[in-house]
Amino acid sequence: MERTFIMVKPDGVQRGLVGEIISRFEKRGFKLVGLKLMQISRELAETHYGEHKGKPFFEGLVNFITSGPVVAMVWEGKEVIATAREMMGATNPLKAQPGTIRGTYGIDVGRNVIHGSDSPESAQREIALFFKEEELLSYDKTLDTWIYE
Ligand code: UDP
Repeated sequence: MERTFIMVKPDGVQRGLVGEIISRFEKRGFKLVGLKLMQISRELAETHYGEHKGKPFFEGLVNFITSGPVVAMVWEGKEVIATAREMMGATNPLKAQPGTIRGTYGIDVGRNVIHGSDSPESAQREIALFFKEEELLSYDKTLDTWIYE
């Protein structure tokens, strides 16, 4: 089983999309193992988006992601990292497939509603950045026998 880091960005929180986004992951069959509402510090934002440092959009991105509360989550399940990326859609919402989260709720790349880890390495790094070990729960869901064969 994999775990991935998912975050509803400040625009998603302001627009009341938290429930809708959580619902999509729940309904798909994934398991919520960590969840918190938080305001990201500048330092955390710069570390999280470290790979983009020096790019023209970096300052704007850090300003935006620290501008209001976000909802940080860890979701668990079979191939959840790649599947979450498919559920989110392309980085540029105008290029995202209709029906995906960004393709349903977004227009501009700098207001694309959701973040999700793009690889097992990023998932591990981002989960550790946002959550302490004791904030992540392991538990059984009886429904799993109806989701996994
Ligand atoms: N971003 C932006 N302008 C760009 C490219 C990216 O504002 O030209 C933002 C956008 O919010 C994106 C984030 O930077 O979600 C991280 O970019 P990345 O390429 O890692 O996309 P993601 O993994 O979020 O799809």
